[in-house]
Amino acid sequence: MIIVVSGPGGVGKGTIVDSLVERDRGLWLSRSWTTRARRPSEDDHAYVFTTPEEFEGRIADGGFLEWTEFLGNYYGTPTPEPDDARDIVLEIEVDGARQVKRHHPGALLIFVLPPSREEQERRLRGRGDLDHKVAARLRKAEEEEPIGRRLADHVVVNDDLGATVEEMMRIISDERPRRQRDGSAQRSAEPFSR
Ligand code: ADP
Ligand code: 5GP
Repeated sequence: MIIVVSGPGGVGKGTIVDSLVERDRGLWLSRSWTTRARRPSEDDHAYVFTTPEEFEGRIADGGFLEWTEFLGNYYGTPTPEPDDARDIVLEIEVDGARQVKRHHPGALLIFVLPPSREEQERRLRGRGDLDHKVAARLRKAEEEEPIGRRLADHVVVNDDLGATVEEMMRIISDERPRRQRDGSAQRSAEPFSR
């Protein structure tokens, strides 16, 4: 099964998925590529930090399961290696989520929302985003929210972190037996059109 966790910047997606993969050994977290600069608060492994040239080279080689441009930078999920034992977790924005759903309709999409825009802003500032980045992410959130709600199998409001993680664990274990593993995502190295 492919599990897509999407939602606006600063809602807590990264924090949630780290907790999910720590608690459930049956989950494998994909590491994305990006051309944006590393935040001082981020460790080297948060992404594969790369150049636009390298990223475009990988697009040309069909090396991404999905990719997009988000606020002036590329972000993409490298085509995963087959690992039949574990479910793949992607933490991505809505355009990427739409691509994955289109090509892998069996993917489970959980869209995460903040309790309020004010709280989202507090979280963005709390992790050290600069003013103009905060403003851009809040504007982007207004576009993303209706698309995410429409695409989502489940919408979760991340108010209390512990409760959110519990709810997502419950959703995943309920959905696991219902969804066929969509193996083509891992087995095909072929690029697909966006
Ligand atoms: P995203 O990956 O969605 O951009 P992050 O995981 O980086 O968001 O979280 C943004 C900030 O919000 C981080 O500082 C994180 O510790 C904090 N955070 C995440 N979830 C909660 C929550 N439920 N309550 C308060 N703060 C949270
Ligand atoms: P940030 O710069 O805050 O780390 O990420 C910006 C947005 O890009 C977030 O919504 C994040 O989920 C998303 N993102 C991270 N990796 C990927 C990816 O591989 N593909 C896509 N489509 N979005 C990604």
